[in-house]
Amino acid sequence: MTSQSWRSLRIKKYQFSLRLFLFLNLTSSLFSMLSPVYHVSAITLPLLLITFSSAVLLAGHWAWAEKKINIPAISIVFGCLWAWHIAIKLPLMHQANFNYLVIALLSVLFVGAIAFSNNIIAFTFHSLPVLITCLVLSEGDQWVRMVYCFALPVAGISIQSVIQRRNDNFAQGLMYKLLEERQTLTDLSMLDPLTGLYNRRGLQNRLETLLSLDASGHFVLLLDIDYFKAYNDHYGHMMGDQALIQVSAAIRNAVRSRDIVTRYGGEEFMVLLTSTTPETALQTAERIRQKVYDLKIPHMFNQSVATNVTVSIGLAPLIGEDVEGALAQADKALYEAKHLGRNNILTSEALASV
Ligand code: GH3
Ligand code: MG
Ligand code: MG
Repeated sequence: MTSQSWRSLRIKKYQFSLRLFLFLNLTSSLFSMLSPVYHVSAITLPLLLITFSSAVLLAGHWAWAEKKINIPAISIVFGCLWAWHIAIKLPLMHQANFNYLVIALLSVLFVGAIAFSNNIIAFTFHSLPVLITCLVLSEGDQWVRMVYCFALPVAGISIQSVIQRRNDNFAQGLMYKLLEERQTLTDLSMLDPLTGLYNRRGLQNRLETLLSLDASGHFVLLLDIDYFKAYNDHYGHMMGDQALIQVSAAIRNAVRSRDIVTRYGGEEFMVLLTSTTPETALQTAERIRQKVYDLKIPHMFNQSVATNVTVSIGLAPLIGEDVEGALAQADKALYEAKHLGRNNILTSEALASV
C-alpha cells in the first residue's frame, strides 16, 4: 500500500509539472500576443499553435488524467514552436534587434526553469531549439551572454536533480525499511515468544487462509501437559519453561509442515491437521503423545501416570468452518482423556461419523 502511494506521488509530481509547463506556455503566448516586446505585433502561426495546443492539452489533461503524456516530447515540440515564432518575428523589426533575441531566450528559459526545476532533459529539450535559433540569428553577437543564460539554469537544475534523486532514494530506502520492519513485527505478533509456535492471533491468520482454500478433511487436536502445575511447583518455573520448549519442539516435529501448531494456552497446545483422514489424524496424535513421552523429561510428581512429562490429547474433526464447535468437541474429549488416566488420546463422538 505504501509503495503504491509512493508511485502515485511520483505520478502526481509528473502531472503537476506538465500542467505548470502548459499553463506557463499558454500565458506567455497570450502575453506575446497582447503585449508584444518592441511593439512588433506578430500573431504568428507557431504562436497560435502554442496557445491552442497548450490550452487543449491543459483542458484535456484533466479528462485523460490517467494517460501519461510524454514530457520531453511535449517540451521539444513547444521549444521548436517558440524557435519558429522568434525566427518569424525578428525580421519584422525595423532593424535586427539582438536584444529581442536575449529577451525571447530568457523568457523561454524562465518558463522551462520554473516547470522543470528537477527535469534536466525536459528543460534542455525545451530551451535548445530556441538557443540554437537565437545563436544563429544573432550572427555571433551576444552569443556569450546567450550561452551563459542557458548554462546557468542547466547547472542549477542538474544540481537540483542530483539532490532530489538523493532525497528520493533516501525516502524510498526508509520506506522499504519501514515496510520490512512492519512485516517483521506482524510476523512476530503472530508467534509465541517462548516456544516459537503460533499464538492465537497466528492461528486465526492461518485459519483464514486455510479455510478460504479448502474447508474439508481437517482435524483439531487439543493437547494439555499432565500435572504441569505440580511440575512447576517442584522443579520451578524456569524448568517448566524449558519443558514447554521441548514439548513444543516434539509436537512440531511429529507433524507435517503444513499442519498448524499453536500454543493455545499456558501448557495447552492446539494442532490443526490439514487435509487428512481420521485414521491418519489418530496416528499423528499417537505419534505426538509418544514423542513427548520419549523426551523423558523427569516428572516425579506426574501422579500415577509416569515418571516423566506426558500429554493428554482430545481429537475432533473440523466440520465445515465451525472451528469453535471442533474446539469444544476436542476439549470435551481432552477432559475425558484426563479423566481416564492421562497420557492418552480420546476422540470425539463426531469422529466416527466422518
Ligand atoms: P492437568 O493434568 O489436569 O492438566 O493438571 P495441570 O496441573 O497441568 O493443570 P492446570 O491447568 O491446573 O495447570 C497448568 C499449569 O501450567 C499452571 C501453570 O503453573 C503452568 N503454566 C502455564 N503456563 C506456563 C508457562 O508459560 N510457564 C511455566 N513454567 N508454567 C506454565
Ligand atoms: Mg491446562
Ligand atoms: Mg495440564
